[in-house]
Amino acid sequence: MLGLLAGLYICRPLPFFLATGVTLAVAVLACDGWIFAHHDWITGGLALTAQFAFLVFLGGYAASPLPTATALSAALPSASSPAGMAVYALPTGLTHRTAAFAYRGGSPWERRDFVLAAVLVRHPKGDVLIDTGLGKLIMSQLRQAPLLFRLGTDLVRSRPAADQLDAAGYESKHLRYILLTHAHWDHVSGVPDFPGVPVLVTAAEHQFISEGGWATAAARGVNAALFQEYAFDGGAYLGFAQSRDLYGDGSIVIVPAPGHTPGSVVVFVTLPDGARYAFVGDLVWQLEGLHEREPRPWFEAKTIGEDPVAFRQSLLRVSAIATRYPQITIVPAHDPRGYAEIPQW
Ligand SMILES: [Zn+2]
Ligand SMILES: [Zn+2]
Repeated sequence: MLGLLAGLYICRPLPFFLATGVTLAVAVLACDGWIFAHHDWITGGLALTAQFAFLVFLGGYAASPLPTATALSAALPSASSPAGMAVYALPTGLTHRTAAFAYRGGSPWERRDFVLAAVLVRHPKGDVLIDTGLGKLIMSQLRQAPLLFRLGTDLVRSRPAADQLDAAGYESKHLRYILLTHAHWDHVSGVPDFPGVPVLVTAAEHQFISEGGWATAAARGVNAALFQEYAFDGGAYLGFAQSRDLYGDGSIVIVPAPGHTPGSVVVFVTLPDGARYAFVGDLVWQLEGLHEREPRPWFEAKTIGEDPVAFRQSLLRVSAIATRYPQITIVPAHDPRGYAEIPQW
């Protein structure tokens, strides 16, 4: 099972996991044989039940698409995006995964490199960094993760977003906010590299951070005074009941999309030339999750602690947007294909 999990997680099975897995599998089959040879039906029944449960666990990786979303009738919201706005991607590293890890029905043989990135939105009223990717402190932050997670996570670091901005002579006074799609470690890691920059979070995500858990430990390492809660005081937006128009010009609009975490959001960005993006965070890890309406595998969703009901609603809402308005580029935080049309910083 360990070998299998390692295979599903990183598609580069560690020899230790593989050797353990193969040894255990052979031992289990040998024990089964011995039990049945000795007509020990009670132990045999228990052993078969355990192995059946394992097969059910594997079934959590099988395709299980949600029904088609109700068609979206909302008009494309208008925006008066000011000249000078631009969007840049700042990839800070990647992690080796598989399609099976990313969404139900994905192949365990298909390698997927998950990008870990920040996105800089330039705006005359102040630039906004959507998530931060891996920061300078990532190695010490990762020490707070459980050993099994660290063994099954194969990070390849490139340059932290702050270093990339510095190297290009970016003046930090232009950065007004860090806006989190959610507070997991791989989105928050770089926050300490931008000292003094306010971090925008929803009340629900702020509460989630304070509840503990290793996945938000990096967020608890951030100076608590920097977190600024915001409310969804705007009206309906593309099928979402509430929204927050950050600068009041329709160019950066945030909507609540809970499920992956309680306070996850989607950030819509509209540029002056009409280009539109939806930064959906970890709503899906790969675009197939959205287009095939496939949730994360049962084991991943459970270990993350997702709310399946809220997740389903959020996924179907974004799925309806993707169907009705294919001109909006959907950018899942970890899918390199989402960034294809975004210039790199
Ligand atoms: Zn996440
Ligand atoms: Zn993530």
